[in-house]
Amino acid sequence: MTRLLSILLILLGFGCLSPALADVTQVRIVGDGAPTRITIWTDVAETAEGLVTEGPGERKVVLLLAQNGYSAAGEGNGGVESWSLEPGRLEFALDRPMAVTRMLRLPPTGKERAYRVILDLDTISPARFTVAARRDTKKLARLETQFAEARADATRLAGAVSGARKPSGPRKHVIVIDAGHGGKDPGALAVTGGKERDITLKAALALRDLLEKSGKYEVRLTRDTDVYIEHEDRVTLARNWGAALFISLHADAAGSPSVSGASVYTISARGESRIDRESSKNDWKIAIEDGTPGQLNGLLEDLVKRETKTRSAEFAELLLPELAAAGPVLRNTHRNAGYYVLLAPDVPAVLVELGFVTNADDAKRLQSDKGRKAAVTAIASAIDTYFAQQDLRLAAN
Ligand SMILES: [Zn+2]
Repeated sequence: MTRLLSILLILLGFGCLSPALADVTQVRIVGDGAPTRITIWTDVAETAEGLVTEGPGERKVVLLLAQNGYSAAGEGNGGVESWSLEPGRLEFALDRPMAVTRMLRLPPTGKERAYRVILDLDTISPARFTVAARRDTKKLARLETQFAEARADATRLAGAVSGARKPSGPRKHVIVIDAGHGGKDPGALAVTGGKERDITLKAALALRDLLEKSGKYEVRLTRDTDVYIEHEDRVTLARNWGAALFISLHADAAGSPSVSGASVYTISARGESRIDRESSKNDWKIAIEDGTPGQLNGLLEDLVKRETKTRSAEFAELLLPELAAAGPVLRNTHRNAGYYVLLAPDVPAVLVELGFVTNADDAKRLQSDKGRKAAVTAIASAIDTYFAQQDLRLAAN
């Protein structure tokens, strides 16, 4: 069997406004090959060019980048097997012949602060690919030189502007912690006295402190005082902050005082059916849609929503054993519900019921420093595992 080598080269240059070298902060690949969309987030405007080349031995997609550079790698999707980032170069391994059918360079918007380069790939015949590859290979050497010169210029300029530019690593993951209820909304009332809104706030603050101490994350709270925040505003805040994970903290109530234990909720099928309506109502636009024809939007939005749901469930499954090790958990602990705060179409989200305030033991546990610490340590540990797994995916090329 003949193995097809396909190399797609994207050469990224500079916008004229910034002398700084761009860093790629995120790479996302969604789609099924017809089409597949690659989105690259960068901190500086880029000029970019998509190229394909072909040769024996391996199948690849490559992006040449004019960026400061660090190494990272990850798995692909829809015809793209994997990607790897080296200084000045982003490579994608293709498992089929594909063409770049669209290339978009998007400036930051209100919701999306990074610059984005978007590439849509479509599966084509091997014959067509060969023709495109032959054409692009000629361009390649010329562009490579051109971009290398631009990189050198940018390095000199950056050096002149700021002395020596420190190498910057990948941006920290933003974790949004949502303390349930608050202010006029006390939430459930504890049998021991006290209110859910205070239990969730103390837990949120403790979790924030723990995560910030690790230095690994950027942590945001939807509230850090006893105020009421509308549900849609909690979601909107998380999206505007670019949340990589949204964790809503609550404490449960039951008719029977014997019911106890923590539980974790992710979006239910019924809840999912509300996502589109609430998204358009609140302008929660999935960032990748900008400038794309409507027909493609729908498909890609569905893929993002599916990915978000999968990630939410992944995090929930990592969180459960941690919670179980830290204290009692409810039966069928991973549950599904249509809670409003879980409706963001593109932010993985869970709602954690830390325990039952209608159960005396749980109520005492959640209102004690020791119990609170155990709960938030369990959550922080799951967060570490979740992002470690993601970074492992990036590294396991
Ligand atoms: Zn609640």
